[in-house]
This record gives sequence, C-alpha cells and structure tokens, in this order.
Amino acid sequence: MSPDPIRVVIVGGVAGGMSAATRLRRLDEAARITVVERSGHVSFANCGLPYHVGGVIAERDALLLQTPQSLAARFAIDVRVRHEAVRIERDRRVVVVRDLDSGTEQDLPYDALVLSPGASPVRPPIPGIERALALRSVEDTDALVAATLSARTAVVIGGGFIGLEMAENLVHRGLATTVVEATAQVMAPLDPELAEIVHRRIRRHKVDLRLGAAVAGIGASDVTLSTGERIPADLVVAAIGVRPETGLAVGAGLVLGPRGGIAIDEHFRTSDPQIYAVGDAVEKRDGLDGSEALIPLANTANRQGRFVADVIAGRPGADRGVSGTAIVGVFGLQVATTGWNEKRLRAAGRPYLAVHTHPSSHAGYYPGAHGMALKLLVDPGTDRILGAQGVGEAGVDKRIDVIATAMAGDLTASDLADLELSYAPQFSSAKDPVNMLGYAAMNARSGLTRTVQWHELAAALDGGATLIDVRDPGEHRRGRIPGSVLIPVDELRARLDEVPHGPVVVHCAVGVRGHTATRILRQLGWDDVRNLDGGYTTWAAGVGRP
Ligand code: FAD
Repeated sequence: MSPDPIRVVIVGGVAGGMSAATRLRRLDEAARITVVERSGHVSFANCGLPYHVGGVIAERDALLLQTPQSLAARFAIDVRVRHEAVRIERDRRVVVVRDLDSGTEQDLPYDALVLSPGASPVRPPIPGIERALALRSVEDTDALVAATLSARTAVVIGGGFIGLEMAENLVHRGLATTVVEATAQVMAPLDPELAEIVHRRIRRHKVDLRLGAAVAGIGASDVTLSTGERIPADLVVAAIGVRPETGLAVGAGLVLGPRGGIAIDEHFRTSDPQIYAVGDAVEKRDGLDGSEALIPLANTANRQGRFVADVIAGRPGADRGVSGTAIVGVFGLQVATTGWNEKRLRAAGRPYLAVHTHPSSHAGYYPGAHGMALKLLVDPGTDRILGAQGVGEAGVDKRIDVIATAMAGDLTASDLADLELSYAPQFSSAKDPVNMLGYAAMNARSGLTRTVQWHELAAALDGGATLIDVRDPGEHRRGRIPGSVLIPVDELRARLDEVPHGPVVVHCAVGVRGHTATRILRQLGWDDVRNLDGGYTTWAAGVGRP
C-alpha cells in the first residue's frame, strides 16, 4: 500500500508561495497542495503593477499570470483566493482559514505548512495617512488607476524603488508629481555620487524632488511638510518601505529574527520543523558577513519558493546568502546594485577600495552608445568583491549581473579583468566595462596607481597637494575643480617643470587619462601622485555640481 499523500498548505499565492506550489507538484504528483490567498488574485505580476498605473502595461489582464482555474487544470492545486489564514494551531497541525466573502472558517490540516505572506507597506502615523494609497495588490492597482483619472497633482512619499517607479508612472499619466524623501538621496542602496545622477534625471522629467524633507500631514488636497510648506496633492502614494508580514507566525509562537522577519534555517524551517517560510516575510543571510538581512525582492522569493519545495519533497535544497542584487528603471535610466555599498562598508568599519569608471554601453564608434557610471568595491586585503553599483541608459543590467555572478562564484576583482565576455561593437567593447573595472581595481590594489576619492579631494588639497587637470582646455573651461592647474596629458612630458615635487593629484574627465598621467609622473620620479578616481565626472556628481 502506498503511503498517504503529503498534505501541504501554502499561505500566500504569489511569488514565493506559487513557486513552491508548482515546483512541488512537478516533484510529487500525489501531494495534496492547497494555496490560500487573501487577495482576489494569485500569481499576479506585482513587479508590473506600477506600469499598469502608468498605462505602460495597458491591459490589466496582462498582470494576471494564472488563475485558480488554470492552476487547477495544469497543476492540480487547490487555490483559494479571498481566503485568509487567520490562525495556525500547531498542536493540531491545522491552519484556520476564513472565507472573506462568506465569513465562514475552516480547518486545513497540514503535514507541511509553507508561509509566504510577503511584506506589507509601512504606514507611519502621519495625520491623514489614511488618504495615502499604497501599491501591493491588484486591488491597490485598481484603486490607484481610478484615482489618477480625476487627479492632476500627486505626491509620492518615499524615494525607494517603488516610489520612483510610481513617480515615473504618474508623470506618464500626466500628473504633476512631487517625490518627498526624508534622507538626502533617493535609492538607499546607491552611494551619493551615483544617486545624484538619478536626481538629475528625475528633475529633468519635471518631478519636484524634495530631499531631506519630511511629511508632517496629509490634507484633503495637499501634503504639508515639516517646514510648513504645502504641496498640492490630489493623489498621495505612500512608498515608505515594507515590513515582513509576520502576524500569523507571531500568533503561532514562531520565532522572529533580530530584524523582525520570520527566523528560518538553511532549509527554510521555522522554529517549528513542520512549518517552513520563504520570501519577503523571512530573514535571509547576508552573503558578505552572514548577518540577518531583509531583502524584499522577487528573485529571492522565487528561488526560496522553489527550494522549499525541494526540501519538502526530500531533495537537496538549501538557502544561500543573499547579495540583494536589484535593478530599477527611472525615466530611462537603469539603476542597479549588488552587495554592499560604500556607506555601509564605512559604517561597519570594513576596509575597502572603491573604483569608479564611466564606460560606454558599447563601442563608442558604433551608433547608439550611452555612457554609464559604474562603481566597484573591493576588499584590499583579499581582493574579494564586496559590491557594485551602476547607473546609465543601457548595458548597466548585464554588467551588474556579471559582477553578481562573479560574487556568487567567489571570483575576485582581479578575476574580472580576466573574464572572457562576448563582444561585438553594438553590444560591448573589446575590453568590456567589467574587465575595465577589474583592471582599475588591480592597478589600485597593487599600488600601480594610487587614487583619491571624490570625498577625499578637499582634504588632500588642504594638506598641500597640487591638483592638475590633464583634460583639454575646452573641457577645463566648461567645468573645473577650484584650484586646479591645466596641463593636458599630451603636454605633460614637455611641461614637467610646472609640476611641483610635493604631493600631486591629477584628474581628467573619468579617470583614464588621469591614470596615464599618474603613470608618466610616477615613472619620471614623482612619488606622491594620485589619480582622482572617476575623474571630474564622479567628483561633480559627488559634490552636487551640474
Ligand atoms: P508576495 O509576492 O507579496 O505574496 C504574498 C501574498 O500573501 C500576498 O498576495 C498576500 O495577500 C498573501 N497573504 C499574506 N498574508 C496572508 C494570509 N494570512 N492569508 C492568506 N494570504 C495571505 N521585486 C523585484 O525584485 N523587482 C521588482 O521590480 C519589484 N517590483 C515590485 C513592485 C511592487 C509594486 C511591489 C509591491 C513589489 C515589487 N517587488 C519587486 C517585490 C516583489 O514583488 C516581492 O519581493 C515578492 O513578491 C515577494 O514574494 P512573497 O511570496 O514573499 O510575497
């Protein structure tokens, strides 16, 4: 006689939950799989929701990837939408589920329970916050679309991923839009010199970007800042961040981690071995230092959902550290990050070396190339890649993904220099921007070229360094760093008598000619020469110059 089929209940029917359900069915045709979803839809494209608000994804149905009927037909999964798991009774191994339409409750017994309830939008106690709309479900999207129809002005509170996507889409809908961000920059995973590129782009698209501004109240048709200023707002969107949805887990006495997410082991088990949890609701392990991390991203949730099914089916499957690799589109810019940023490394007191480059998305001689800003952070002792960031119109996605892959495979920064990457002029350069980052990191780490960062320049000059601009006179005229002396790199060998023998910093537009100038001077006897990393371009963004 075959054993009784395993009964698996899954709470949450979107990214993590539905990945778990469908993978499990592919592994175990006999399992009795029930998915409970509080909203009216399962397996919907949450990452596409902002673009339906903006009308970019015109058809609402395009967001609905599956229905309970399609999932029943293909995967024999019992999917119950508008059903909420209200309680877990661990001693009886049942989940109590409420039908939100009829109000009736029912016990669902389980052998394995998977929690993938996601994260809910943070709603700070600002007076009037009840008027602010958030975006998480298809129903939220419907409410936002309806609100945009009669609105002319909008305020988005929060300059993170979802806030910026919303701002772009509200502009697309024709609304005069303000973004209010409490910190000095949007997109916290970026360092400030890269965030500034995003600020410029947002402002170019006529968004009123308020940085370092706090919302004190939301009125019937406006938002009041803590300065007392009132900003017109027919529509208010709260995109202040998300918090793991842990109510069900807490009610069942499951252990939470220090960051407030459900604590799990490497096999996704909570403190109750019959109950697993994945996705935005759980604490992950940081790939760099192993600390607990909240990473509310779709890729992580989907991967975890798949692997928890493997564990339940008795196959090898384990959670791995996360690096938080992410990308967002902002008015035509690709903004991507992986690993730690410089702010975090500095705050943690970890040694690092930073490299900035400004390559083209593909060979400059082939039409359509776009510039980008890339930043690599490297452990100077071990050569380990600690993180990377990129901002640009094209080609940022693949560079950050290659670096994220290198990090996952424990490649070093020097290994990036030696990667064999695909090339034809319309796609890349023979020395790909990832290779170039590797070269620059090797040069800096070996001491071949010493660099100074944009935020260290003022101290270097105060300390008596001479700043030499090795660009062309035209570039120098268009924008210069105060106190710099112009000696174009091609004239440097002939004008050595103008270079003092004390500390010298050279700079060009992006750091390449500066590297050459540094090497000329070092080889001709100047010991204390440093190149301004990322050149004028990085410095200007860092100090907020146009
Ligand atoms: P979810 O996918 O949120 O699913 C959780 C589900 O559980 C919800 O539908 C909820 O209704 C249900 N639920 C909760 N509690 C109960 C209960 N007690 N009973 C029954 N059902 C319950 N990530 C990216 O990587 N890239 C992006 O571009 C991106 N864009 C996004 C845009 C928006 C607007 C949003 C909201 C998120 C975006 N994300 C993006 C994040 C990504 O969607 C999440 O990381 C991912 O969906 C998390 O998966 P999850 O399974 O943990 O939770």
